[in-house]
Amino acid sequence: MNLYPLALRLDDRRVLVVGGGAVATRRVPALLAAGARVEVVAPELTPALRGHVDAGRVTWHARRFVPADVDGAWLIQVAVDDPVAAAQVSEAAEAARVFCVRADDRTAATAWTPAVTRHGAVTVAVTDDGDRRRALAVRDVVAAALESGPLAAVPAGRSPGVPAHASAEGGHVALVGSGPGDPELITVKGRRLLAAADVVVADRLVPGMLLGELRPEVEFVDAAKIPYGPAAAQEEINRILVERAQAGKFVVRLKGGDPFVFGRGGEEVVACAKAGVPVTVVPGVTSSIAAPALGGIPVTHRGVAHEFTVVSGHVAPEDPSSLVDWAALARLRGTLVILMGLKNLSRIAARLLAEGRAADTPAAVVQEGSTDAQRVLRSTLGEVADAVSEAGIRPPAVVVVGDVVTALG
Ligand code: SAH
Repeated sequence: MNLYPLALRLDDRRVLVVGGGAVATRRVPALLAAGARVEVVAPELTPALRGHVDAGRVTWHARRFVPADVDGAWLIQVAVDDPVAAAQVSEAAEAARVFCVRADDRTAATAWTPAVTRHGAVTVAVTDDGDRRRALAVRDVVAAALESGPLAAVPAGRSPGVPAHASAEGGHVALVGSGPGDPELITVKGRRLLAAADVVVADRLVPGMLLGELRPEVEFVDAAKIPYGPAAAQEEINRILVERAQAGKFVVRLKGGDPFVFGRGGEEVVACAKAGVPVTVVPGVTSSIAAPALGGIPVTHRGVAHEFTVVSGHVAPEDPSSLVDWAALARLRGTLVILMGLKNLSRIAARLLAEGRAADTPAAVVQEGSTDAQRVLRSTLGEVADAVSEAGIRPPAVVVVGDVVTALG
């Protein structure tokens, strides 16, 4: 069969979907992503399709197909099992000269949907002449090559959420969360942007494995090695981000966990905005949830905790510069997650006890969560500080206080 490959611009064009079952459920999201005005004709819908209708994204005609439905459609997707009903749609589509995709019988279709992978601005579509599995396999190989093979070095170009790639017009900065430590816990988007970076500025807690994958020509700035005190170092980082971006580079600022959880990400966004440098924020998997999870502790659990509070313990409770209301935290019965809390742990625990939290409240510490070096220590609020020093627990570690610590046994 001689197919003519084509990409359609469906933005604000009416696309008719006949059928409201599993096939329609799988096809509708891509049509919506292309901006199509999707109308579904079906007596019943799956809950997922119903969700699109309720959210106003899809128009639903709750009835069987009638030939007049094809009027004004630019494309038709047939997603019904019944061959007679499907043939009826095909016939109406043919008469109206509208291309028609048939999920039930490809030989009866006038249009085919390819196997697709998207990588930034690049869309790869693979068609086949009947061997769908082969098309999917080819697609998967290309997708893997775009992700991490030789093609990964090809700049991803303009893509959703990214203003522009490095160019003479001026570069930009992406503030990317690297996740808690396991290099596989970066997001797909974060990894894609990292592969396209000209400059990478990374923190101490960023997984080293991710940096090992950078192309040799990428400029690497180790933010942990910048001298001066913390405040001056932050200014220096801001300066590097702005200067490189203004020189037209695509700068990825890689930060441990999530960039906005005690990561000073906000300050960097402000510095870039002041200098007129566009910034993209890519959230990350934060250690405040991931480290407990990988230590076997859910931060919430049905019937146990309906809240979790994440606090920084880097300022001691009695320090006048502390912004944490420890008395209020001691009154909560839910989960307390403390980051940067090892140094002040005995004072924090003492304060929580003094303010009324019970000494036998379960407490745990997860060191280097998600990495090969992960250690988990289980104790109680009354004893956790001593247990930590006895066990030689070191940063980075999160402390979890609350009944969730024993929820999974
Ligand atoms: N933005 C980061 C937190 C930065 S503050 C995030 O969202 O995860 C640094 C603190 O995070 C450390 O002192 C420690 O308390 C915690 N932390 C970071 N990575 C960790 C890990 N792998 N295991 C346990 N705690 C971690």
